[in-house]
Amino acid sequence: MTINQYHPETLSVRAGSEMTEFGENSEALFLNSSFRFNSAAQAAARFGGTEPGNIYSRFTNPTVTMFQNKLAALEGAEQCVATSSGMSAILACVMGTCNAGDHIVASRSIFGTSVQLFSNILARWGLLVTFVSLTNPDEWQAAITPRTKLFFVETPSNPLTDVCDIQVLADIAHKAGAYLVVDNCFCTPAIQKPLQLGADIVIHSATKYIDGQGRCLGGAVLGSKVLMEPVYGFLRTAGVTMSAFNAWVFLKGLETLYVRMEAHSKNALALAAWLEVQPQVACVYYPGLPSHPQHLLAMRQQSSGGGIVSFDLKAKLGQTQQQAAWALIDATQLISITANLGDAKSTITHPATTTHSRVTAEARTAAGIGDGLVRIAVGLEHIDDLKADLAFLTK
Ligand SMILES: *Cc1c(COP(=O)(O)O)cnc(C)c1O
Repeated sequence: MTINQYHPETLSVRAGSEMTEFGENSEALFLNSSFRFNSAAQAAARFGGTEPGNIYSRFTNPTVTMFQNKLAALEGAEQCVATSSGMSAILACVMGTCNAGDHIVASRSIFGTSVQLFSNILARWGLLVTFVSLTNPDEWQAAITPRTKLFFVETPSNPLTDVCDIQVLADIAHKAGAYLVVDNCFCTPAIQKPLQLGADIVIHSATKYIDGQGRCLGGAVLGSKVLMEPVYGFLRTAGVTMSAFNAWVFLKGLETLYVRMEAHSKNALALAAWLEVQPQVACVYYPGLPSHPQHLLAMRQQSSGGGIVSFDLKAKLGQTQQQAAWALIDATQLISITANLGDAKSTITHPATTTHSRVTAEARTAAGIGDGLVRIAVGLEHIDDLKADLAFLTK
């Protein structure tokens, strides 16, 4: 049996691992910047690319390679390029695939910093971006220009968990000669495999569920060998490389990915169903709930709803929606008040004044992110303790 014939859970534990002569059963951490050669001729052969092998950890490092191979096996990708953060994964993806004057169509509902990267920084280098509705394929079709190179989406979206049909967008992109990029941070391959659904490139912020315990920053770009070659070329030159230490932490994180994502989803579904019947809650956004507008599509593309639940609060008399949301957040004692997600510890945040505070009020309203919206990244605590921590809602 070759490794890729095993079940995904087995791959998450076993794929990518390589053992040194010492027979260690947990992957070794190669905390070194450069590698020695046996001779000047070998050095020349390594640099010339005629002999495979490590040269310098900005290019390759055995611990990082093990992480890349494990994640590639999980996503079903030919190649994975590990990066220093999720943002540098997006940067490397664009730098590797686009030229000045090229055009990207991106969902309006992507990570706020991704919006800044596209429209404030890359725009200065001649990249054009059009933002469209995640869920309306006609807008994607209409936005295409002769220079469109990439379609860029997150599904489910943050924080409202809107879901797009990956296959439909991939078909539109491919007819235009463009590639579909999916930032798969919310789902991870344990829940959704975008490449199998027709996407060309997958992006990860490994900082989130791949680490799973809130320790390290990292990212990854995955796709075919042909597409990843220029992405890797950018990385080894520009130096947005993943640190070996972080790769070692992520390798351990991936071993438990399937059991963690199942537990996150189970807790999130239970919490979402509970929130839905609380009188102070106006609306719950969670793809695993039958009330979610794209529930059936989500359940076709994903094996579960994932760990992120958002909801709108009703303001009490004389209270603004923001006051209602802040009062709930401040009443929690167990759940961490932080904007991070993908941690074993549940986190709670008010998108309008944190993650989306740099977006204009009009853009926020257009995106459906109201002042009463609260997002919980549901962790691995006992569900009854999470409900008890939100008992404020029942009063
Ligand atoms: C956090 C996040 C990023 C950025 O990742 P970093 O590791 O913080 O650079 C990109 N996309 C999504 C969806 C994220 O949640």
